[in-house]
Amino acid sequence: MIDGCGRKIDYIRISVTDRCNLRCMYCMPEEGVEMVSHEEILSFDEIVHVVRILSKLGFEKVKITGGEPLVRKNLKALIKDIKAVEGIKNVTLTTNGVLLKDQIEGLAAAGLDAVNVSIDTLNPEVFKKITRRDELEKVKAGIKETLKYKSVALKLNCVPFNMEGQNLWELTDYAKNEGIHVRYIEMMPIGFGKEYGCLKEDEIVSLLETKIGKLEPYKGKLGNGPCHYYSAESYDGKIGFISAVSHKFCGDCNRVRLTATGFLKNCLQFEYGSDIKTPLRSGASDDELLSLIRETIMNKPKGHKFTENNISEENNHIMSQIGG
Ligand code: SAM
Ligand code: SF4
Repeated sequence: MIDGCGRKIDYIRISVTDRCNLRCMYCMPEEGVEMVSHEEILSFDEIVHVVRILSKLGFEKVKITGGEPLVRKNLKALIKDIKAVEGIKNVTLTTNGVLLKDQIEGLAAAGLDAVNVSIDTLNPEVFKKITRRDELEKVKAGIKETLKYKSVALKLNCVPFNMEGQNLWELTDYAKNEGIHVRYIEMMPIGFGKEYGCLKEDEIVSLLETKIGKLEPYKGKLGNGPCHYYSAESYDGKIGFISAVSHKFCGDCNRVRLTATGFLKNCLQFEYGSDIKTPLRSGASDDELLSLIRETIMNKPKGHKFTENNISEENNHIMSQIGG
C-alpha cells in the first residue's frame, strides 16, 4: 500500500492493552491511567480480522506492543494466529521484559520472530526511580532466557535522558557481552516525555566513543524500522539509534498503529486516524473495512512536528496508550 505521500506502508504496530506492570516516569503517571474495560479492548479474533485485511493491502510486518503486552492473557495464541495469516512474514514484540522469562518458550513456539526489550539502565536504584518498580532482576532474567531461543532475534531498547546514574556505557557493555544489539531511542515530546530533556544521538555517540573508540556508520539493514546502526572495532554487536527528533525520518515512515481500543492512528504524533472497532463490531463487510483502512493510510500526514511549538492538533494520548 502506497500512502498519499508515496511511501510504502507495510508495517503495523498493534497495542494489545493499555495496562502495564511498570510506571516509567516518561510514559505513565505513578498512579497509572484509568483502565479501559475489557469490552472496549479489541479481542484477539478482532485483531486477527484487522490483520487479515491489512495483509490484503500488502502489510507484511506486525509489532505487538502495549502498555505491556505480556500482561495480556495467552498472548502466544495471538502471535500464532497472526503468524498464520497469509502474507504476514514477520511478527515481533516490544516488552519491558518483566514477564518474559516465563513466556518466551510459548512465544517462540508460536513463531515469534523477534523481541525488543526496553531497559533504560542496569543500576537497580536508577531502574527503580525510572520505572517506579523494583523489577530489574526479572528483566535481566527474561533477557537471559530469551537468548536461549535462536529463532527469536533479541534487541535492547533504551531511552536516554538526563537521569543521573543511567550509565549508557554500562548498558552498551552489557549488550556487548551478551552479544545483543542495543538501540537508543530519543525521548519524544509525547505525553510525559515532554517533561524530560532529550539526549541527542550526537551526544550519545561522543559519550560512547570515549569508551569504545570510533563508531562507524553500519551500512547494512537490521530490523523493520527507522533505526540506523554504528559498529566499533572493539564491539561485535551493533549500536542503533532511533532519532525521531534530531534525525527526522518521516520521509521513510512505513507504519501505522492500532490502539488497544481499535483506533487506527496514522501518525505517532497526531490524533489523525479512524475508529475501526465500531464498524468491525457493527457488521461492516471486509470490503468496507478495507476502504476505511486504505483511506486512513492515504491521509497519513507528511511528518511530525516535534520541534515546533504551539502545535494545535496534538495527540492527546500518552505513550503507553499508543504503544511506542
Ligand atoms: N511496555 C512495552 C515496552 O516498554 O517496551 C511496550 C510499550 S512502550 C510504550 C514502547 C516503547 O516506547 C518503550 O521502549 C518505551 O521506552 C518507549 N517510550 C515510551 N515513551 C516514550 C517517549 N516519550 N519517547 C520515546 N520513547 C518512548
Ligand atoms: Fe510500561 Fe512500556 Fe510505558 Fe514503561 S514504557 S510504563 S514498560 S508501557
